[in-house]
Amino acid sequence: MAPGERVYVALGSNVGDRAAHLAHARARLARLPGTRLLRASTVEETAPLGPVPQGPYLNQMVLLETTLAPRELLEQLHAIEAERGRVRSVRWGPRTLDLDIVRYGDRAVREPELTIPHPELEHRDFWLREIAELDAERSPRG
Ligand code: ADP
Ligand code: MG
Repeated sequence: MAPGERVYVALGSNVGDRAAHLAHARARLARLPGTRLLRASTVEETAPLGPVPQGPYLNQMVLLETTLAPRELLEQLHAIEAERGRVRSVRWGPRTLDLDIVRYGDRAVREPELTIPHPELEHRDFWLREIAELDAERSPRG
């Protein structure tokens, strides 16, 4: 496989069998064309953000290497969300599966449908923590 970009994708779920939704996402991401799943962070439970009352989330960050372009990857993520019955009703509302592109190599994208790095990155401690965990695994220890 040609060398791809290193991409961080955030997984989130707060409806139904949350762990099963994340597991489905990991398995599907690993099998996307031109893509390898390099690492996955610990799964953590977090309180919901925003104005809509809803249950707690399970969150996880994965590191991919992919030759898919950012918009191609976004399309694939939407397809995987749809497989878990994701319905886009309320913004910030509950969801079976949310897949967000957090970082894509060193690229900056500013399009109506896609902003990279993800604008919430600096505000979500759990994302920063999960990325730090993945990055720590990469460097040699001690
Ligand atoms: P949330 O902002 O809570 O993740 P959605 O998952 O419903 O809400 O996403 C709404 C839209 O956000 C998507 O249709 C997508 O076009 C857009 N979007 C913009 N930047 C990104 C990104 N970096 N990753 C994923 N979706 C993004
Ligand atoms: Mg999303």
